[in-house]
Amino acid sequence: MMHHLTDETLQDYASGVLNSSMETLIACHLTVCPVCRRNAILAEAIGGLSFNDNPAAEMKATASDILAMDKTVPEAHPSSLQHVSQPAISQPGVPRPLARLLPTTLDDLPWKSFGPGLKQYNLGSQPRKEGAFKLLSLDPGSKMSKHKHKHRELTYIISGSYSDDIGHFKAGDIADLSAEHHHSPHVDSDVPCISLIATDAPVQFDSLFGKIVQPFVGI
Ligand SMILES: [Zn+2]
Repeated sequence: MMHHLTDETLQDYASGVLNSSMETLIACHLTVCPVCRRNAILAEAIGGLSFNDNPAAEMKATASDILAMDKTVPEAHPSSLQHVSQPAISQPGVPRPLARLLPTTLDDLPWKSFGPGLKQYNLGSQPRKEGAFKLLSLDPGSKMSKHKHKHRELTYIISGSYSDDIGHFKAGDIADLSAEHHHSPHVDSDVPCISLIATDAPVQFDSLFGKIVQPFVGI
């Protein structure tokens, strides 16, 4: 695993300001990533300390003091459980926070095509201007139009892999992109690349084609 959550996203996660889609996506990555799990605990502890009445407590705390507080820190936000609707269907590569949102296995989902080799399954019910929460399945060789983000786009890779201007992303990785990133991912695995994506605003496509298909893709 090469790609992790940024400090900024971990802080926002710890302080509970992310939408529930992003919390669920982050919970997926935390199930497979001890590095981010540890950093999330630290971020929660640091957030707690900064609310402490006594500023000296913050100054004196060392990393091991903070880690010793592990037991007081819940493992996941209760709000990430908002989507719970059915028992999780266990499938290899599908983390439990996602599995419990799916009515079937990935193979049996009622995917909707949005172009040759491109399909999606919507998990969110929010209006498009508030972002998207969906699964994307992109066939080998397919490419997304170059786009950027108004704020944040999180992608958790379930299977396959893709590359873009930032790097190579494979199963278990998280792509944590902020407003300054412009990218055009292309699938470089020989199996479809299935990923979970959460945004908090519509993406902004550079090309006219991207702008035209955007209402149909819904991201
Ligand atoms: Zn990580």
